[in-house]
Amino acid sequence: MTKPIHTHYTFYLMLVLMTATACKHNSAKSTTQSKPMSQRRVSKAGCPIGDKAIVSLTYDDGLASQLSNAVPMLDERGIHATFFLNDIGANPAPWKAVRDAGHELASHTLAHPCTASFDWVKEGNASEDFTPKRMSKELDDQLALLQSLGASPPYSFAYPCGTTWIGSEHTSYIPLVEQRFVAARGVGGDIITQLDVPMNVPAYFLEGPLEAFIGSANAAIAKKGWVVFGFHGVGGDYLSVSNADHGAFLDWLVAHQNEVAVLPFRDAAQCMMP
Ligand SMILES: [Zn+2]
Repeated sequence: MTKPIHTHYTFYLMLVLMTATACKHNSAKSTTQSKPMSQRRVSKAGCPIGDKAIVSLTYDDGLASQLSNAVPMLDERGIHATFFLNDIGANPAPWKAVRDAGHELASHTLAHPCTASFDWVKEGNASEDFTPKRMSKELDDQLALLQSLGASPPYSFAYPCGTTWIGSEHTSYIPLVEQRFVAARGVGGDIITQLDVPMNVPAYFLEGPLEAFIGSANAAIAKKGWVVFGFHGVGGDYLSVSNADHGAFLDWLVAHQNEVAVLPFRDAAQCMMP
């Protein structure tokens, strides 16, 4: 979807502020049961063994620049990422190819509901317009799309705009997500060292520079934790990271593979769960 750039900056600033509380809540909740990271990961097949940090690269909204720029850069380096898709039903072939290349295809709803206070939200598709029944259907219809693309379960989810509520009463729809998905990504970046209920996992939305990406990855290495990055455009579209910074960060991750494992969001969440 095309959105005016200037609203995006305001939008993300608001998101960071709005979600900081939710993410802190998530972290606080999860400090009650702690297990050493290495102990937790060693016991799971396919999870990094030892003291590596985990990085997950996630891409939202099914954008053309992801297909043309991000996917080839990832594939050249053998890195698997997560693509949170909306209604790309009219253009399934390239996304099937992304799946075939080993990436995770995941849900970002079909209609991308966000609060009506954003002027780019289409009338009738705001978070305020959704009932639990409508959101249930929205989630189920998007899951059917993922299945039609050949994506295999379990599926993960990303809240559009990081918004976890619907309706005029701002009712949480996290329970509807939890019924259908193994993990869900939010906003408001953080380094995750404990994760009990992975239904609003914080993610950093950075557009650069390269040093900002590396700084967050190094923070994850220092804490031996998990860090999730959220991207929109790559060398195009909106809220974009440049091709140069994106490629250089992927190179940095490859060069630091003894310290960092790069896993799709779903796989990393499963490794992190107790
Ligand atoms: Zn989105």
